[in-house]
Amino acid sequence: MALLAVACLPPAWVRAEGSSAAPAASNPIEALIEQGTFAMRTSPDDSKRAADQALELLKKSPDPDLEIRARLLVCDYQSERDTAAAQREIAAATALLPQAKRQGLRAGILDCEGDSLENAGDNTKAMAQYTEAVSVAASHHDDEMLASSLYARGYLLGVMGDYASGLIELRRADNLFEKLKKPLHALTTLNAIATLYNRMGDFVQARHIYTRALAAQRQAGLPREQVVTLHNLGRVNENLRDWDAARAAFNECLEISRTINYSRGEAYAMRGLAAVSNATGDPEGALATLANAEELQKQIPDARLRAQIQLARGVALHKLQRLPESTTALESALVDFRQADSLSELNQVYTELASVYAETGDWRDAYARQLDAKNTSDKLLRNQLDQGFATLKVEFDTATQEKENAALKRQNEANERALEQARKVRRLQAIVLILAISLVLLLTLLAVFQHRSTLRMRMLAMTDELTRVPNRRAVLGRLDALLNRVEPDVCAILIIDIDFFKAINDQLGHSTGDEVLKVVAAAVRSAVSEPAFFGRLGGEEFLIVLPGYGMEQARATGESLCGRIRAIDTTSWFGEHRRITCSVGVSVSVPGRDTPSTMLQRADAALYSAKRSGRNCVRTESVSAPDLGAAAIADA
Ligand code: GH3
Ligand code: MG
Ligand code: MG
Repeated sequence: MALLAVACLPPAWVRAEGSSAAPAASNPIEALIEQGTFAMRTSPDDSKRAADQALELLKKSPDPDLEIRARLLVCDYQSERDTAAAQREIAAATALLPQAKRQGLRAGILDCEGDSLENAGDNTKAMAQYTEAVSVAASHHDDEMLASSLYARGYLLGVMGDYASGLIELRRADNLFEKLKKPLHALTTLNAIATLYNRMGDFVQARHIYTRALAAQRQAGLPREQVVTLHNLGRVNENLRDWDAARAAFNECLEISRTINYSRGEAYAMRGLAAVSNATGDPEGALATLANAEELQKQIPDARLRAQIQLARGVALHKLQRLPESTTALESALVDFRQADSLSELNQVYTELASVYAETGDWRDAYARQLDAKNTSDKLLRNQLDQGFATLKVEFDTATQEKENAALKRQNEANERALEQARKVRRLQAIVLILAISLVLLLTLLAVFQHRSTLRMRMLAMTDELTRVPNRRAVLGRLDALLNRVEPDVCAILIIDIDFFKAINDQLGHSTGDEVLKVVAAAVRSAVSEPAFFGRLGGEEFLIVLPGYGMEQARATGESLCGRIRAIDTTSWFGEHRRITCSVGVSVSVPGRDTPSTMLQRADAALYSAKRSGRNCVRTESVSAPDLGAAAIADA
């Protein structure tokens, strides 16, 4: 069974109560303390600065409760840096206590004293302080202080190999933090529980917890906490003999520690890297790293760290066969671990020493250490096999698993809701799209309809109502356009006027007159084809336009038209005794000079001439006449 030593970088923040990332305190001093408390988890130096500022302000407006809290913050900071400075804060806070309203703060002072003692390597005395802190916090019903004290005691119980009691304390702390709605504190407590698992050999479960915690701390932006978790992760990978993973974790731990100027984290990370070097056949490298770690450690009051470094040095020197030096290093580690009563570390040192003594031929000491190793190993084994711990562990693991499952379930539900929302949005988008397409179609239909009706209106406006042929506006419009072309060609026009039409009306009625007009219009239409065009000028007169026609062609057309009209069958109206005849006046354009009106004038004059000549004939304007307004009329 692997009974590897586990040195863990203990989180220092838990004694400080309050955890809000965004301090909501109204009092500026309290706000500084809240800020400092949060910074304990991100950057210890920032935390110290905030506490010092708070203390400065407190000189002007004293408040014993706030001052104790500020001093506890400084104490937390100094306990892992400067023992004497930590002691001064403890003394000052103790002196203020009689005036404080919140008597539970005494638990915080006791915890900080315990922490200093623990760092000095006196775990027995530290335990006594934590125990008193727990009872003080409990008697004052100060849950925040109680949770922190339970955490400190539970953690130390684990260091001393009492896993079952440690687990009970840490679980109580965890529950309290959950109750106080401090999920990140609860997470760190869970980490401490993982450290217990690591100590008693459940490395896989420990690694699982650390990995989860690390992700949460990364997300919350807590570098100081990440240093602790990364170190623990390195340790558990060391125990799992996963050297690459261990090296990666220690390297990152080192990097972040340097970024936030956290020497203790750096020293622990270097110890870890040296252990990896030892395990991967590079004891020289290990010694070099350890020399740096030792330099840093000199300024850090942490007896277990010192012992850990010596242990790793002892192992490296042993590998290099520098046996006397190895013995010195290991014996020095032994003093610290004995005082700290750190069971698993003791076991490792005893085993290593036994082997070194054996190699130097010191059989007596080798045997003694072998015996010590066996005793510590038995004790650890007993603790590991402790039924109570096993039961508690199963209970705890189940509860943790349930929590994880509940979180996963919540996550799934949230995902499901998001999906449903997305589906709804897609449905709405489809509806909007269909509506938009319908609207476009409708508008297109309307536009087409509008266009058609415009065309229809235009057509109606240009059509003679009775005969359905183009009206006066239409035919004169086209004639005007023809005459106004850029390079106008010659064209002829014919005005056709039905002879004695009034008489038809008079004798047969107006409606018969209308019928006659329709039939004549149809006859004209059948005689005219593009590019020629025509229209009803009004009354019983029609105009025909013949583009490109000269006088002769136009007159011939007039003649032919007269013939067609004469040929209309009129028996239904008049019997055999009468035909419809018409008179035609012709004019031909002078390109570039004529307008519809000048042409009409001349054609009209020609028509007048036709009427005077007895009707039923075609007359043309005089082609020789230079004066267009007074064209002479020639007989056809
Ligand atoms: P002329 O040979 O000199 O052209 O004699 P006319 O009777 O044809 O000419 P006049 O100008 O004296 O008469 C034209 C008549 O046409 C007068 C008018 O009542 C008739 N008229 C005009 N428009 C219409 C119409 O739309 N329907 C009918 N039935 N008669 C119309
Ligand atoms: Mg007329
Ligand atoms: Mg007439």
